Amino acid sequence: MNYETVIGLEVHLHLNTKTKAFCGCSTEFGKQPNTQVCPVCLGLPGSLPVFNQIALDYAIKVALALNCKIQEYTKFDRKNYFYPDLPKNYQISQYDLPLSRDGFLEIKINGKAKRIGITRVHMEEDAGKLIHESTESLVDFNRTGVPLLEIVSEPEISSPEEAHEYLAALKSLIEYLDVSDCDMEKGSLRCDANISLRKKGEKELGIKTELKNMNSFKAVKDALAHEEKRQAELLDAGKTLAQETRCWDTKELKTISMRTKEGSQDYRYFPEPDLPEFIINEEWIARLKEGIPELPQEKMRRFIKEFGLSEYDAKILTASKRDSFFAEECMQAYLGQDKKLVVNWFIGPMLSEANERNCALSDLGLSVVGLIELIGYVDRNEISHLSAKIVLTEMIASGKPAETIIGEKNLIQVSDSVSLNDIIEEAVKENSKSVADYQAGKENALMFLVGQVMRKSKGKANPKAVQDLLKEKFK
Ligand SMILES: [Zn+2]
Repeated sequence: MNYETVIGLEVHLHLNTKTKAFCGCSTEFGKQPNTQVCPVCLGLPGSLPVFNQIALDYAIKVALALNCKIQEYTKFDRKNYFYPDLPKNYQISQYDLPLSRDGFLEIKINGKAKRIGITRVHMEEDAGKLIHESTESLVDFNRTGVPLLEIVSEPEISSPEEAHEYLAALKSLIEYLDVSDCDMEKGSLRCDANISLRKKGEKELGIKTELKNMNSFKAVKDALAHEEKRQAELLDAGKTLAQETRCWDTKELKTISMRTKEGSQDYRYFPEPDLPEFIINEEWIARLKEGIPELPQEKMRRFIKEFGLSEYDAKILTASKRDSFFAEECMQAYLGQDKKLVVNWFIGPMLSEANERNCALSDLGLSVVGLIELIGYVDRNEISHLSAKIVLTEMIASGKPAETIIGEKNLIQVSDSVSLNDIIEEAVKENSKSVADYQAGKENALMFLVGQVMRKSKGKANPKAVQDLLKEKFK
């Protein structure tokens, strides 16, 4: 690879306010088309926008969490373009005086921290939605005017994997702030990407393409990887790239040219005359800063310190806010010293159950009390680790408590000498050679005898107890 990849991401985020950015219409998703509209969001002549302050508060919180400098003085602008889902023929956005600039988001790449610069976070409104049917196109204006945040990164992302990591970290951060549901399927989080290649060591950026229509983080990664390869092949062949917008084809798994890129001059930006410019003072910012909860990276560091977790485990447990709360409650409820014993359940069997069901750890339907009860059985050596995994799966499937399942499946391990004595005697009698070997100092022979007893008990004997009883017998 003679090239260096340069990627910048532009994320659009729906803020989960109850009402739209500039009118009182509901933002609720999935309602009957064109039932959540009014003269303002339909752009009827003479209607006047009124700015939703909750949207501004949410926007400032995101900007602060991304380490951006909030601009004291900010305003809205009109971005003019014609499109059937944009009834005003302009979008209220921010141009030269955005809400905030110059932040960063830290991501982890191969265990190393890397800061990706955030150019700006600005506010705007969403357009409507077009629904294309076989012979006609329909338009739904319910989404028109829903508050959007545009988060623009610096071109400092160096690979499709880093882009994926950036999006995951951003989504996690936004979820902690509770200002958006970040649901890509509903379109509340959308991502466009710019990608260009340059010869290794060169300063100047290559010709970039803008990628659109990527509906999942995986699609972003795949589209970037495809585009990286396509550009490298063209450059290798001595061809010049066109600066264009390309669309990710989810069926063919390739990018297709949509149009050559428009520049900002094509939008004829000008200040929005119906909304006053405004000043965001220090007290306002300070008040919002206080309301910012512990964010994923802080929580990760705390989990490592407080509960002795590895960075890998802490990252998985803190990626989602709800999972992190659930995991922390479980670790606190567990009275044993080594919290890692609880974490192993999360990272091991529970994570594979969650992956299988394509759900979050906190959505498995397990309660703190229920999980701690199950772990207790293992800690007390009452059931084997293997049985515990079976119980966990059954708890998730049926919602029954561990105690009931253990009873139904008769999983309690036999540990007392009286119950085990007969089968131990039997095993010893049948394997006199192994007994002799053990007495001659061969440790392995003991494990063989334990195995024989386990088999005779059909897996119900407690192996530790059997081992102790055998040792006692041959002392
Ligand atoms: Zn409206």
